[in-house]
Amino acid sequence: MKTRNSKTHANQDDKDLANKLSHLYFSIKARDKKRVGISWKQKDFWSSTAFKLWYKKQPKQCAYCGIKKEELDKISELVKHGKIINKRSKTRGNSFEVDRKNDKIGYTAKNCCLACYWCNNAKTDTFSKKEFKLIGEAIGNALKRKIKKYN
Ligand SMILES: [Zn+2]
Repeated sequence: MKTRNSKTHANQDDKDLANKLSHLYFSIKARDKKRVGISWKQKDFWSSTAFKLWYKKQPKQCAYCGIKKEELDKISELVKHGKIINKRSKTRGNSFEVDRKNDKIGYTAKNCCLACYWCNNAKTDTFSKKEFKLIGEAIGNALKRKIKKYN
């Protein structure tokens, strides 16, 4: 019985991840299509399969502030209970986003990393990965302090 339950949970988790990845892929593809002036060509675009494989291989942490998946889940819980404010929590902040390190290049495996909503939102298209390093560290420290405050 116990084995059966955990198997059902694992299947549900797999389905959730598959849904999430399809949604993510759809949204980055739509964003790249809209972009003008970068070297986007349909044939060069990440295939859905390649994107999903890439995502699964990524360390589950923000490339800029270092916040890990468990910490992001804690923040989501705190947001849910009104301890941390995130007005956009319905659409952003609950999982890692796919960020392009260099905004002049499209979504490719080499040019992308996982980022938390707060870093992605602050980095915009203004800062390069290198320029954003110190800002990312500061965001990570501030987020970790918030988690500590309520734990
Ligand atoms: Zn971050």
